[in-house]
Amino acid sequence: MSLVIFWTSLFDMPLLVLARKGGLHYDAHNSAPISGPRENEGVVMARRKKIYEGKAKILYEGPEHGTLVQYFKDDATAFNAEKKAVIEGKGVLNNRLSEFFMTGLTQIGIPTHFIKRLNMREQLIRQVEIVPLEIIVRNLAAGSMAKRLGLEEGTALPRPIVEFSYKDDALGDPLVPEEYIIAFGWATQQDMDDIVSLALRVNDWMSGVMFGVGIKLVDFKIEVGRVWDNEFPRLILADEISPDSCRLWDIESGQKLDKDVFRRDLGNLTDAYTEVAKRLGVLPSNVTHRPSKPTLIN
Ligand code: 5GP
Repeated sequence: MSLVIFWTSLFDMPLLVLARKGGLHYDAHNSAPISGPRENEGVVMARRKKIYEGKAKILYEGPEHGTLVQYFKDDATAFNAEKKAVIEGKGVLNNRLSEFFMTGLTQIGIPTHFIKRLNMREQLIRQVEIVPLEIIVRNLAAGSMAKRLGLEEGTALPRPIVEFSYKDDALGDPLVPEEYIIAFGWATQQDMDDIVSLALRVNDWMSGVMFGVGIKLVDFKIEVGRVWDNEFPRLILADEISPDSCRLWDIESGQKLDKDVFRRDLGNLTDAYTEVAKRLGVLPSNVTHRPSKPTLIN
């Protein structure tokens, strides 16, 4: 064990943590663990171990064995990172919104990796072995499904449909049938039964919550990870749930309040996410994000 001092990004207060050396095995697909000091706008912020950097988040070693710190960046990417931008305040909003969704899901008995929010951009999470699948639940046809089947966006589906993509950026996260998943050993049949049941429970709760604030949950993507409790593996909800990974349409106007605003150049992404956060009570209703950064209710 070694004593490490690092700086929180919110309060600029030194936080003393006991960090275990080694022992981390975050199984982020297609990535190698990276170590070294964290740099932010040219300033070396801290000496803590970076485990993985993705398109929208960074994972750092957590204060205790089996934990990680998940940092939400402002980076937005679309079309397998062909389109990129930095959108000020997006990371702050997604951190808070993901906390809101994960906390609500925990309260109805769905196990998640979320432990607690640490500050504006970071949350403490349980370390998991990520199952290399994007699990997508659809209520209305949109996006890739609408394109693939020639359906008009917004067509109601006969029932919620769960589909799977293999998490591989180089391949563009291809849609895969359950048969492939089991044959290639990415998950077992029992895992798949558990994943579908978990995804549908998430859909039920999320649809209801969003409907309550005048928003249709069109579709969303989740990821799950495996944890080991006393030698027994268990699947829990991982990654994030935010407007980056959902399609959210205003019930009255049909206005898009999700990452399609960025993908399709429909306006200001932070305005859209701020609107979602305000309606859910995560932001005070009189806040506009301009000219300063989002103001959060603690
Ligand atoms: P589609 O397959 O129509 O592009 O996406 C279906 C849903 O899953 C959308 O809500 C979309 O935002 C989400 N989704 C699909 N792939 C990804 C991804 O790689 N990252 C994120 N954050 N969301 C995704």
